[in-house]
Amino acid sequence: MRTTLVVITVVLLQQGLVAALWAAMAWLRLSRGPALHWALAAAAVCAGLVLVGQRDSLPEWAGFWLASGLVLAGLMAVRRGVALFARRPLADAEQAAIWGLTMAALGAALAAGPRWLFVSIISAALCHVFAATAWTVRRHLAGEFGVRAATGCAVPFALIAAVFALRTVFAPVLPQSIGSSVHTEGAANVASTLVFLVAGLLLQFGLLALVMARLLLRLRHQSEHDELTGLLNRRAIGQRLREEAERLTRYGQAYSVLSIDLDHFKTINDRFGHPAGDAVLRDVGRLLRQVGRSVDHVARVGGEEFWMLIPSTGAEGALQVAERLRRAVDELRPSALRGELPLAVSIGVAVADRAGEPVEALMQRLDAALYRAKAGGRNRVELAAGPGPA
Ligand code: GH3
Ligand code: MG
Ligand code: MG
Repeated sequence: MRTTLVVITVVLLQQGLVAALWAAMAWLRLSRGPALHWALAAAAVCAGLVLVGQRDSLPEWAGFWLASGLVLAGLMAVRRGVALFARRPLADAEQAAIWGLTMAALGAALAAGPRWLFVSIISAALCHVFAATAWTVRRHLAGEFGVRAATGCAVPFALIAAVFALRTVFAPVLPQSIGSSVHTEGAANVASTLVFLVAGLLLQFGLLALVMARLLLRLRHQSEHDELTGLLNRRAIGQRLREEAERLTRYGQAYSVLSIDLDHFKTINDRFGHPAGDAVLRDVGRLLRQVGRSVDHVARVGGEEFWMLIPSTGAEGALQVAERLRRAVDELRPSALRGELPLAVSIGVAVADRAGEPVEALMQRLDAALYRAKAGGRNRVELAAGPGPA
């Protein structure tokens, strides 16, 4: 068997496996729509490669024109899947127009042009598909993945686009590198089929990276956030507290923590039901985020208890924030309560300004301050006592 044919067979097997993999992903409901597109795409590329492998025994229109049409359609399905993944417009009209024009030009080149023209045209079309895919990933997933990760995910697609750009340009310059038959054993022909093998792997690597990146980000988000309010959870704010304590030790930078507990929340549940209580918790969560600055960390650490970590802030600033919060909750009119019950919070405030005080000791002082706010009549702010002698 000729090397070229062996490589094409390997690419064929690779794409067959890939089709099965993405079908399984879709079945597992992992990025279902895109995965289905990518399974179909691999199947179309497979069909195209079968025709390429049979080129010598097929009429030219099937071995070249139809085979190229199938591969192009398959890779356009990859782009469509990526657009779906990035929640972007699908550009169906643009893709259909490009496919139609390309097929017409390929038909004309096959009938009357040199072989390099055929190769140049299909390569240019594929270059465009991959460049557009790389752009979608880089531009429209940067918000979700971050600029660096989105750029990294776009690299495989950009590399494949570059390969096809080179092929577009080199086809007329080095026409001898184009094997019209898969049995052409020239080094250039073997090399170009090997490039397809690598490009196929790169493509799958790129698509898998997208799915994995989204999965990882979701898992990380879920492990750090409270489901009901979307605020940080206890574990995540605990981590940030330890980081602030480290900053205090290293740079002497004080910080403050607020413990915010809804007053008589049980009454709300009892009178309006648990779902109404949940709605109130969501409203309060949103309010805390609005009142806090972007550098402040807000968490829901228990049923109706929240913590706010305020970096680089001492007692005066922290008390101002706490008072602002208390008033904002006092003025909040959650629709779930239909104006029939006032809402209020008690707030404990603790300032960490002594390096070496364990976070646990700080939180005990905070707890005692909250307890005093409750005992002192609720709907009020209490500043914790200092950490005591070192
Ligand atoms: P206090 O003023 O002393 O803080 O009184 P309280 O009623 O707010 O406090 P208590 O600790 O007695 O009750 C807290 C209530 O919060 C009891 C519990 O059913 C409710 N709760 C805890 N988690 C949730 C939740 O996720 N959703 C809802 N709706 N209620 C919750
Ligand atoms: Mg309470
Ligand atoms: Mg409580």
